[in-house]
Amino acid sequence: SLTAGIVGLPNVGKSTLFNAITKAGALAANYPFATIDPNVGIVEVPDNRLNVLTELVEPKKTIPTAFEFTDIAGIVKGASKGEGLGNKFLAHIREVDAVCQVVRAFDDENVTHVSGQVDPIDDIEVINMELILADLESVDKRLPRVAKMAKQKDKDAVAEEAVLSKIKEGLEAGQPVRALEFTKEEMKAVRHFHLLTQKPMLYVANVSEDDLMDLSGNEYLKAIEEYASKEGSEVIVISAKVEEEIAVLEDDEKDMFLEELGLSESGLDKLIRASYDLLGLATYFTAGVQEVRAWTFKKGMTAPECAGIIHTDFQKGFIRAETVAYDDLVEAGSEQKAKEAGKVRLEGKEYIMKDGDVVHFRFNV
Ligand code: GDP
Repeated sequence: SLTAGIVGLPNVGKSTLFNAITKAGALAANYPFATIDPNVGIVEVPDNRLNVLTELVEPKKTIPTAFEFTDIAGIVKGASKGEGLGNKFLAHIREVDAVCQVVRAFDDENVTHVSGQVDPIDDIEVINMELILADLESVDKRLPRVAKMAKQKDKDAVAEEAVLSKIKEGLEAGQPVRALEFTKEEMKAVRHFHLLTQKPMLYVANVSEDDLMDLSGNEYLKAIEEYASKEGSEVIVISAKVEEEIAVLEDDEKDMFLEELGLSESGLDKLIRASYDLLGLATYFTAGVQEVRAWTFKKGMTAPECAGIIHTDFQKGFIRAETVAYDDLVEAGSEQKAKEAGKVRLEGKEYIMKDGDVVHFRFNV
């Protein structure tokens, strides 16, 4: 399954946030994973549609879908040269599908900053530069080989050389691959490179508890937002400390706490949702009297592939998917009424599933 890695310099609040994630996940009793990697935190994906479907269908149980974060510790300046835990750090980043970079945006005399003062842009650039340097090394290794093949008129090599050169130029100018523009053709080649700065990234601004209620005075946050918008990345504001406190609360207590802070949603929930989007994930539902359940799939997956997420047999013996869009179902008020209104579709093998589809898979056993 896809996972988002959490990175950041020391003392920015990573462990605090990751603690919040594991504590929240521990409440998610539906996921009794046998062997959990201590660096992996599993959280439920908040989705109000699941509550609505539960009211509509009144099932015996309701099961949300889950999502994984991986804690990637150990970034320091010089990581790309293998300093400190550098190599290990880069290897871990290679394994994740998206990156959440925690950035310190709070003042606290009691918490030392690795470089002596709080400077979020400097912090971001330390990390991004290490990743850029690591990518440059990969590109420099590959480019001469490809250039050689290109000289022999190998068409694919000629195309690849052009893309690699473009990437090299970008990296040398300090630009991550995700910020460069590629044609569809170029994009095909880029995907094979598996470069670190190609992974989608979002920034997690860790602000103080007090700032949460009024962010307008936080200059660090403004700087982070400006930086992120230049590369088209999103910024999620959290207070890791607050998240750690509310992670252990029951839903209604949590809502009260958030209301007092003037927030409609916890920072963690925002982060989960944003990471989900960043990874190109979507949700479909199964809704029966036994259980109403949300399932995660990757956008672009076909109906049989989505059936395979529930059980491989569902994919092997797939016949069709009886599908109704969530909005149509809710508007109709019941599956029967949705059927009468002609809103339930019979979809075949080629059907590309949509976010919010409520389905029954039909299959041969
Ligand atoms: P890491 O090294 O990035 O994992 O950072 P930690 O999560 O260990 O946090 C470093 C220190 O900063 C700890 O003493 C935390 O209690 C403190 N800290 C983390 N988040 C916040 C926050 O939102 N506000 C304040 N005041 N302190 C925080």
